[in-house]
Amino acid sequence: MPSLFIDGVWTEAHGTARDEVINPYDQSVVRTVERAGAEDVTAAVAAAKAAFAGGDWPSTPASARAELLHAVAGLLVRDKDEIAHIETTDTGKTLAESQIDVDDVAAVFRYYAALADKDPGRLVDTGNPAVLSRVVYEPVGVCALITPWNYPLLQLSWKVAPALAAGNTVVIKPSEVTPLSSIKLVELLAEAGVPRGVVNLVLGDGPSVGAPLVSHPDVDLVSFTGGLATGRSIIRASAETVKKVAVELGGKNPNIVFADTDFDTAADYALTAAFLHSGQVCSAGARLIVQDSLHDEFVAELGRRAELIRLGNGLDPASEVGPLVSAAQLAKVEDYVASALAQGARLVAGGRRPDEPELAKGFFYRPTVFAGCHRDMRVIREETFGPILTVEPFADEAQAIALGNDTEYGLAGAVWTNDIGRAHRVAGALRHGTVWINDFHPYVPGAEWGGFKRSGNGRELGPTGLAEYREAKHIWHNTAPAPLRWFKG
Ligand code: NAD
Repeated sequence: MPSLFIDGVWTEAHGTARDEVINPYDQSVVRTVERAGAEDVTAAVAAAKAAFAGGDWPSTPASARAELLHAVAGLLVRDKDEIAHIETTDTGKTLAESQIDVDDVAAVFRYYAALADKDPGRLVDTGNPAVLSRVVYEPVGVCALITPWNYPLLQLSWKVAPALAAGNTVVIKPSEVTPLSSIKLVELLAEAGVPRGVVNLVLGDGPSVGAPLVSHPDVDLVSFTGGLATGRSIIRASAETVKKVAVELGGKNPNIVFADTDFDTAADYALTAAFLHSGQVCSAGARLIVQDSLHDEFVAELGRRAELIRLGNGLDPASEVGPLVSAAQLAKVEDYVASALAQGARLVAGGRRPDEPELAKGFFYRPTVFAGCHRDMRVIREETFGPILTVEPFADEAQAIALGNDTEYGLAGAVWTNDIGRAHRVAGALRHGTVWINDFHPYVPGAEWGGFKRSGNGRELGPTGLAEYREAKHIWHNTAPAPLRWFKG
């Protein structure tokens, strides 16, 4: 089947370029997909524009749009096992994680279905009883949705569900590394009855497919999730056509552990915070900040437990962590480990590829723990996006907060303590978009997600995640017009 979806039809790319999608467990080819060229991007934007300007979707009652989103949620549940299998063979993450992702994605579709018709606008008191003043919300137009490889389906759902709920038309550009679950989601949207041209899908890399979308004059909004460097280039490229642009970028997320917390629980969570999906999580708790009275014992326990983590094929239920997504990501992690060692960090666990021969073909790297870390190290300052956990000690609350905020990023962080007052003081002082108290990683569709500082300029999920896809329009109706006589002649 052709792999581009343009104007309601599965379409072959104009050019002959193809990309192999690789299973990171063994480097086998899962599927070969077509790569879009300039003509395909133009056709996808034209279809989305025609469906917006001339189609019914923007004016379809919000309750009908909601019905379609509910139908998609039902189809996701129906095909959950197949989709989870696709996501695991494409990204390497464990099947259990992929199954949770599908549940979460269905919940996101249901959430925006429920929200779609809840806010028809508001009346404004003008002080003049003859004037009816209304603020209404309208869709923005053609939205380019550009997503990363770590949570391909999940990140796409955070964009496509609110964009459709608000009445926009979209062109989806998933990561070239992991396009398969996005293809499947578009199949489900088509099956649910999304009108022709409302959803379009183009595949290919950033420079040749993403960049033309961002600079296209008929694209009204870009919603991008990915790395900081790409985010900067997207903001620059969107300036010429003054698009609405929301970027959701990386993180360097502090996980702060006070000595009064439950040792076993905090150690358990410190490991999942850092090593879930091999650390390829924007909100990974890669930077552990531990009170000094607890530090040595905590680090020793983390090292012991990290060495026990079972790597393996994500499809094998015995595997606790799968491979990294690609050879490039593995090389990046090895580079960060080398730099941490060169800058004097003390290796406590990992720091190597696994020894098992059956993992030799995969992009595996052992969960790695470094102690003796400080702010001047690259491994502390930059997002490694791999299974690397660094540990820094702190003396008191003020120092914990200062360390937690000592990053250019501001996506997420956590504080572990049994002192309720301190928990909320620290949560209030941390300059991050999400702060967990005595927990790590959970999110819900109803609560906003996004970054302070260089972690981004938008918010996804929650009511704000819908507002990003809406224009507010003020309609002023003078019900008793009479001449003003401002000009006397
Ligand atoms: P990336 O920036 O390399 O690529 C992301 C997407 O942008 C891909 O689809 C890519 O093809 C496209 N792209 C690349 N160059 C482009 C260009 N010039 N114009 C338009 N599109 C372009 O990111 P990645 O490596 O795929 O993902 C990892 C990053 O994503 C990490 O930094 C991670 O923290 C971040 N992320 C953030 C969140 C969040 O919620 N803030 C969630 C998931 C991932």
